[in-house]
Amino acid sequence: MLSAGCGKPRAQPGAIPPGAPAELTTPHDADAEGDDAKDATDANDGDDGDDGFGAPSSAARPASPPPAWAYDAGKKLAAHAAGKRRAWDRLAEFADTFGPRPSGSKALEDAIDWSVRAMAQDGLSAARREKVMIPHWRRGKESLHVLGTGARELRLLGLGGTVGTRGTLRAEVMVVSSLDELDARGAEAKGKIVLVNAKMPAYDHVLDESGYGTAVRPRGEGAQRAAKHGAVATLIRSVTAVSLDTPHTGAMRYAEGVPKIPAAAVTIEGAEFLARAAARGPVRVALQLGAKTLPDVASGNAIAELRGREKPEEIVVIGGHIDSWDVGDGSSDDGAGCVMAMEAARMLIELGMVPRRTIRVVLFTNEEFGLRGGRAYFDAHGSEPHVAAIESDSGAGAPKGFGIAGDAAAVASVARYAPVFAPLGADDIGKGWGGADISPLTDAGVLSLSLRPEGGHYFDLHHSSADTVDKIDPDHLQRNAAAFALMAYILAERE
Ligand SMILES: [Zn+2]
Repeated sequence: MLSAGCGKPRAQPGAIPPGAPAELTTPHDADAEGDDAKDATDANDGDDGDDGFGAPSSAARPASPPPAWAYDAGKKLAAHAAGKRRAWDRLAEFADTFGPRPSGSKALEDAIDWSVRAMAQDGLSAARREKVMIPHWRRGKESLHVLGTGARELRLLGLGGTVGTRGTLRAEVMVVSSLDELDARGAEAKGKIVLVNAKMPAYDHVLDESGYGTAVRPRGEGAQRAAKHGAVATLIRSVTAVSLDTPHTGAMRYAEGVPKIPAAAVTIEGAEFLARAAARGPVRVALQLGAKTLPDVASGNAIAELRGREKPEEIVVIGGHIDSWDVGDGSSDDGAGCVMAMEAARMLIELGMVPRRTIRVVLFTNEEFGLRGGRAYFDAHGSEPHVAAIESDSGAGAPKGFGIAGDAAAVASVARYAPVFAPLGADDIGKGWGGADISPLTDAGVLSLSLRPEGGHYFDLHHSSADTVDKIDPDHLQRNAAAFALMAYILAERE
């Protein structure tokens, strides 16, 4: 997921505050190519949408109680989810069968086909793949060796979209703690590999804030800022507050008119080592990145519907993104969101809960590295009457609630249903953000929500080889899916 939220109290994971700098929009991912879309709409796009989770504003909660039918729906879904681990079993099958699903990979396309088949088997209608052309970047072979005193190899991951080194690049490392320090000491950067050793703070459990929106900036713009000062490559400290020597990748972006220099993330441990060593004297390293950008390839959004009983032409979109980075198995980011959306529709079918409007499941392709799926969906369907869109791209921690993009009236119109979600533990509903993939809909005025699980560990795993299905609790996943179903049902059913 992408996201933002620096400085904004109680930001949602991935949520970008209105007026946030464009760089925040480089999400979690979706950035390199997704920037324009996101940057243009800072309030909603997120880079990843991952930035702090936010608690709702109690002021937004109206006094009017939810209707009885909504309470009934909540009770039915909570009972249906209780004791089940079915969503997790499906996610494990998905993760173990396809593994990482980067844009341009066969695994991504196979996963899309599998999802379409699974949704058809679940009883959804009009299950299909809708074609989307997506970028294709491959990392190739990578290494980073410290030369001379203290020689060792350090773990790293090239950033999504980086150019390669065309062989081995040997240079002295210049360590800075921030982009501002880089600019202030720019004269020293010429011919060097700049390491931006910017620390992400520990998760703030009081404010439900990760600090990701600020911490991710060096990833997105470090290369272009360093290149302006004549640097030959850039390294960043992985965007995480917790590390067991695991590097975290993510999208970066180049600027027009500025040389494209290689960019990679080292681990917290590696960054701290280089900072200590450089403080003692010059440190030289050998960097090799085999990254390449290949021609665009055909991919697709996986779509299926629970057709509404009275107003089938009116749509509530629910979804996540089916692509992932090329490390780990992308279970938290965002296999979980896809499986939750699929499971939500399946639960509603099993319970005979067919709402007045159509619930459309959309598993977006290429969120992490282009946001092409979200844009293609809007191009193809933006003219249809969408009453709401809900995205799940913040992992699968314990159910917590939803964030809502929009003004106080929009927030209040949804937050009034919060008590209905209490049996699922997902009644924390208030102002927040939508999601990267649905941001074109949000920009067009569609009511947009994000499913918001507890997020304290999300960024520990994010975009790393540690993002695997074993990190997800089956009960959490099942109850998040039920909450997803309940919110979709309410928005598709209410007057
Ligand atoms: Zn994601």
